[in-house]
Amino acid sequence: MAENKRYNAQLDGASFDTLAVRSGQVRSDEHEHGEAMFLTSSYVFGSAQEAAAIFAGDEPGNVYTRYTNPTVRNFEVRLAALEGAEQCVATSSGMAAIFSTILALLKPGDHIVSSRSIFGSTNVQFQKYVSKLGIEVDYVSLTDPDEWQQASKENTKMYFLESPSNPMNEVADLKVLSALAKKNGALMVVDNCFCSPALQKPLAFGVDVVIHSATKYIDGQGRCLGGAVLGRHELMEEVVGVLRSVGPTMSPFNAWVMLKGLETLSIRMKAHCANAMQLALWLKDQPNVTAVHYSGLPEHPQHELAKAQQSDFGGVLAFEVAGGQEAAWSVIDSTRVLSITANLGDTKTTITHPATTTHCRVPEESRLKAGITSGLLRIACGLEDIEDIKRDLSFGLSQL
Ligand SMILES: *Cc1c(COP(=O)(O)O)cnc(C)c1O
Repeated sequence: MAENKRYNAQLDGASFDTLAVRSGQVRSDEHEHGEAMFLTSSYVFGSAQEAAAIFAGDEPGNVYTRYTNPTVRNFEVRLAALEGAEQCVATSSGMAAIFSTILALLKPGDHIVSSRSIFGSTNVQFQKYVSKLGIEVDYVSLTDPDEWQQASKENTKMYFLESPSNPMNEVADLKVLSALAKKNGALMVVDNCFCSPALQKPLAFGVDVVIHSATKYIDGQGRCLGGAVLGRHELMEEVVGVLRSVGPTMSPFNAWVMLKGLETLSIRMKAHCANAMQLALWLKDQPNVTAVHYSGLPEHPQHELAKAQQSDFGGVLAFEVAGGQEAAWSVIDSTRVLSITANLGDTKTTITHPATTTHCRVPEESRLKAGITSGLLRIACGLEDIEDIKRDLSFGLSQL
């Protein structure tokens, strides 16, 4: 028998695309090639003494899937490698990732400064549930560091933002805001859902914690909910504690789906971005389109920043049509292929009217201040042929 058997890949020095396909996998004694899915809620021990030692933490080992699961761990190790994080904690959804982070790292009396342009459910979570913990949130402009400084108080312990923003594609200067957070004694938390680690690695700019809705680009095919929190061991151990005692754990099945998603993340993101860029350029020349908001366009106010901070501009863009809500709705209703849904990060292109869907709970005045007019439409580009997407939109646009 040959010595030096190697069943698992050795990945020292491997680059992003290789890590995306291979990292985190520990093959079982069956030597399976693909990642095994461990659908089990608990684990057995070889003896009473081993059980006692593992429960006491004197020996490594699995106890219960709310605590650890090999498939979930595989996903966590792989995503951590891609984000350049010391540790990743997988959660049941993006919202669970955000709430677990706050529960783990803040206490009553603390204060959060958040960008105004955040995911709708994050906003509701802050106002309805984070407030119950005695934690207040103040909202500022994503792009104006002076506002962040002015909103920072003695008890400010967290800065929270998404970049690029939904749906306007505004981009925050992650380096500048991370330095400001540090100066003010706050942790910098970034929801990196729109870029994924394929396009942006916030930790490299001094960000403390990265959050994902893995439901979007990480799965990438609209199948499962999932989330993740990434950062230093010391912070992530606190998040692990919340998962153990509160329970918003990622299921092993979803972790397995997300693992497969990570394997094609990079190649999918390239295609999403290429479609979005072509669509943005095409939309600029269409009748009745009065504005296109995409950070890949040179005229976008943060185009240079996006270019420096991201490796590409993402798959989501917004555009305005003349004629307000009636015109916007008629463009949506005349499509035959695009999915009318607010989801994103799917292979299927989606179209939505933010003012009456994702942002319907935002008061009109703040909505308009954020640029979300009644004629604004958002497209999350999928992987269809771009010519078919253009044709689908051109019916409605030419009839306005
Ligand atoms: C979808 C989304 C979330 C919430 O994630 P779920 O997995 O749906 O809970 C959070 N942030 C952003 C930016 C999102 O797009």
